[in-house]
Amino acid sequence: MTTHALTATIDLGAIAHNVDVLRTAAGADVLAVVKADAYGHGAVPVAQAALAAGAAELGVAHITEALALRRAGVDAHLTAWLHAPDADFVSAIEHDIDIAVSSTRQLDSVVAAAERLSQPATVTVKVDTGLNRSGVAADEWPDFSEVLGKARAGGAVAVRAIMCHLARGDEPEHPLNSEQARRLDDAAADLRRLGAGPEVTHIANSPAALTRPDLARDLVRPGIALYGRSPIPERGDFGLVPAMTLTAQVALVKKLAAGQGVSYGHTFVAQHDTMIAVLPAGYADGVPRLLSGRFQVAINGRLFPGIGRVCMDQLVIDLGPDGGGVREGDVAELFGTGRTGGPTAGDWADAIGTIDYEIVSGIGSRAVRRYV
Ligand code: PLP
Repeated sequence: MTTHALTATIDLGAIAHNVDVLRTAAGADVLAVVKADAYGHGAVPVAQAALAAGAAELGVAHITEALALRRAGVDAHLTAWLHAPDADFVSAIEHDIDIAVSSTRQLDSVVAAAERLSQPATVTVKVDTGLNRSGVAADEWPDFSEVLGKARAGGAVAVRAIMCHLARGDEPEHPLNSEQARRLDDAAADLRRLGAGPEVTHIANSPAALTRPDLARDLVRPGIALYGRSPIPERGDFGLVPAMTLTAQVALVKKLAAGQGVSYGHTFVAQHDTMIAVLPAGYADGVPRLLSGRFQVAINGRLFPGIGRVCMDQLVIDLGPDGGGVREGDVAELFGTGRTGGPTAGDWADAIGTIDYEIVSGIGSRAVRRYV
């Protein structure tokens, strides 16, 4: 096996297991969300693994992400839901990508592309039921649904699905969740009355898929839980298995004398003689600079603290006066499953007041992805 200085090992078996956990919990099929390079895990291998494990279809944000999956030979049903005004709807239609539309203006552009190709566009209607982000807003709905009805009757679009995204899915008992679902069901009923009935409805993100099977409808649309991260950490791990382990090879081991400072600004000053290790990972690789002095790594089964500032490419670890038996070339686990007591992405997120999503999706391209 080739060893890389910095490696993100992706356990595709964990992805398959997590698809299963989600399908069972929700009692519905899974649309696997593989946007943002599958939250940093690698869109193509994750998409293939999720589909092989029984995920019914895929979703991404940008059409460019969907086209990259098509280029890699992924032919499953694929929805893209976030479009700049100059998005390439022509290519999306040519490559059989389901275009989620969030406004009348977007729908007009999709219809124009379909007419140019003389080929109907498959669309998902994305409704803003309360997140107040993308989706057709309530005040635009009458106009939108009329334009959609005409486009469908004229053969420019086929309405395949209707979707919305929850604002407070990670608070399962919050009344807004049921209210958003009710608003979406009403919008779906409107479309059916107009003869533009969607075949498929989807609402639930990871937390809702795991805790609110009553919101599941035809499909659930999980992202973070596929990657084995609990979407509601205070409620446990739901039996999910983290898929990404980030490791770095120890680049240097050396002495640090009492009184010497470490890294920029000398924010750490040694109280006694100690040994330090340099790891080839930094904020350019997605190790947050805010994590400086607030993390540990596992080397040969032992935990060692990070010291001094996280730099662009390097981290420094305190090995203690005896060096902990660590040698150059040893592998340090920055985060992993946590099952053998090592650090997790959740530890990083907690330390700096963010969520696992930001940690795993932020791991940069210098970390070589290795699939097991
Ligand atoms: N659906 C949409 C529209 C999203 O934007 C996202 C991610 O933010 C998801 C589903 C998946 O959410 P989660 O990762 O919380 O499951």
